[in-house]
Amino acid sequence: MTDHLNDISPDSSCPQCGSPFTEPVKVTWWGGLLGPKLLHHTKCSECKYRFNSKTRQSNTTGIIIYSVVIFIVVFAVFYILRRG
Ligand SMILES: [Zn+2]
Repeated sequence: MTDHLNDISPDSSCPQCGSPFTEPVKVTWWGGLLGPKLLHHTKCSECKYRFNSKTRQSNTTGIIIYSVVIFIVVFAVFYILRRG
């Protein structure tokens, strides 16, 4: 009865190519040290696909939201510092 390929397993194998060789991404250009940690950012060693190891889906939406939040925070801090 398994006629669908949506095999959601709890392991951290690559959702793109199925490779078990994945590793957590520690630093990214968009999130520094904190961003990839918050988004469970993981990289496949085989096909270089990057995904969220918790949802096993692409992190693109999360990265956009994270970037927007950081931008707002930085802007707010900058604004407050300039006013003070
Ligand atoms: Zn892969």
